[in-house]
Amino acid sequence: MSIVFNSSNFRSDRASKRRVLVAGGAGFLGSHLCDLLLREGRTVVCVDNFSTGRMENLRHLLRFDTFSYVRHDIVDPIDLPVDEIYNLACPASPPHYQADPIHTMKTNVIGSLNLLELAARYQARIFQASTSEVYGDPHVHPQPENYWGNVNSFGPRSCYDEGKRSAETLFYDFHKQHGVDIRIVRIFNTYGPRMRPDDGRVVSNFIVQALKGEDITVYGDGSQTRSFCYVDDLIEGFHRLMYSPRAIHTPVNIGNPGEFTVRELAEQIVAMTGSSSKIVYHPLPTDDPRQRRPDITLAERELGWAPSIALTEGLKSTIAYFERQLARPNAELAE
Ligand code: NAD
Ligand code: UDP
Repeated sequence: MSIVFNSSNFRSDRASKRRVLVAGGAGFLGSHLCDLLLREGRTVVCVDNFSTGRMENLRHLLRFDTFSYVRHDIVDPIDLPVDEIYNLACPASPPHYQADPIHTMKTNVIGSLNLLELAARYQARIFQASTSEVYGDPHVHPQPENYWGNVNSFGPRSCYDEGKRSAETLFYDFHKQHGVDIRIVRIFNTYGPRMRPDDGRVVSNFIVQALKGEDITVYGDGSQTRSFCYVDDLIEGFHRLMYSPRAIHTPVNIGNPGEFTVRELAEQIVAMTGSSSKIVYHPLPTDDPRQRRPDITLAERELGWAPSIALTEGLKSTIAYFERQLARPNAELAE
């Protein structure tokens, strides 16, 4: 199904001349991005299929007459006059993106293509939420942007990793062939309020398990590492990249270089929640990367960006968020 809008679909264009489409705006990161754009006076339309996104993440935005949303899958074409596009539409958690891997691939390839065609049609600047997963199970550590990665094209993570790599290629080609004004951020594991309790990623799993007094499920021996960025730092990085005085058309890593083993994360969350949960060990999923840490030299130099929120500080507000979520057992989970 193709969807066609005109400017009357925006409730108001008065607050800003910049009309911004946020694909995936009902998700964890997308909803924080919508907050920032609306605070700055932009007119925002969120386009989301609500597969992992939730109405709960958007409800506080409905009071803005510069905000609207539409239930739409980006795999289907869309026509909407816009000045800027952010493409965050894609399930990010392994259990969610592996639940329908063909649709994940379509979202990354056909969905990105649809949004790039829209950008070309309206000369809109377009931003892609890429991922550290383009580095796969990296042989270079930490990972700079010029590392080409070590990715399996034929496994359970491939729909996501190769889908995101293909999307980067499409962004490159639309820039070269049609002069589309692109920005690409490679996001490293980010956490914070508005993750779903059933998201399935490590920070939300461990916090929810700790708060419920359930076993903390470490996959493998827990010696694999990740670098965890708090959502506010990440969104600030998005903003600096999108609006930097000098356009950067190549991918930029945004993430927190603080690197922790998964076991350390589990122990820290148990300590911070005062939980009686035990740490238990489950099999390591196929192709789970051994290590992950961003080299953020480019972001520091070109954007003056570096994260400012340490893991303990970010975990504190994330734990408080999940405490509130779990205190409302009937809170909608689906949307
Ligand atoms: P999320 O699952 O909370 O949000 C994804 C949003 O996209 C949801 O609202 C979902 O309903 C929507 N969506 C999915 N497929 C869609 C489709 N075909 N059409 C329209 N909407 C669709 O995940 P998130 O953590 O907010 O991630 C946002 C983006 O950032 C994703 O593209 C993800 O790949 C990327 N990213 C996130 C992280 C992270 O650590 N959070 C790391 C790397 C990359
Ligand atoms: N992980 C874990 N227990 C969980 C969820 C995840 O030990 O309940 C591990 C997972 O195997 C990986 C790391 O934590 O090594 C980060 O997983 P996540 O799904 O958050 O992100 P990604 O693997 O995509 O980096």
